[in-house]
Amino acid sequence: MRLVLLGAPGSGKGTQAARLKEHLQVPHISTGDLLRAEVAAGSKLGLAAKEVMARGELVSDEILLGMLEDRFSRPDTRGGFILDGYPRNLAQADALDKLLTRIGQPFDFAVQLDVPTELLVERIAGRAAAEGRADDTPESVRTRLKVYDGHTAPVIDYYRQHGHLTVVDGVGSLDEVFTRIIEAISPVKEIG
Ligand code: ADP
Repeated sequence: MRLVLLGAPGSGKGTQAARLKEHLQVPHISTGDLLRAEVAAGSKLGLAAKEVMARGELVSDEILLGMLEDRFSRPDTRGGFILDGYPRNLAQADALDKLLTRIGQPFDFAVQLDVPTELLVERIAGRAAAEGRADDTPESVRTRLKVYDGHTAPVIDYYRQHGHLTVVDGVGSLDEVFTRIIEAISPVKEIG
């Protein structure tokens, strides 16, 4: 199974991706996690990304693509993957299409977790209190939601127009949302 998970900050992508990984037995590729690992390691890339991430803006397409090409060159992605946090703009969607075509691994589904904005804000505030992520400040959260509306929502429209999109209601318990995702992707799962 090759999945692209889409959804606003706070939509529950990361949590659901972790469960899907166990269920589908494929790697979870989170660009946010990859970037945070670079920041934690103090690499050159991490240094370039750190401030941008703290502000809630997008790290450059070039850095992201290099990171992804590197990740997809590892053999564990050959049996499938769950991509989380990418693409976040149309240029990234285009780059992803090209990359996956080149390696012969086009994705089966783009699944969008749909959650109303009021609930996103509430969830991120809860996570900020619990986890203390550097980019969960009110200012950064506002920026991330704005970036999502301006840059990432068009990716969703693009996938909708090209028939790749499956929208899943992201409101409910973790189990409920998980079950909805599994149902949404089951036709391909049974065949492939
Ligand atoms: P969230 O979706 O909750 O905001 P992520 O962990 O997916 O959190 O991403 C955190 C930050 O990492 C983003 O705000 C952005 O700065 C950076 N980032 C992650 N993925 C991308 C991407 N595809 N393109 C550009 N920047 C990214």
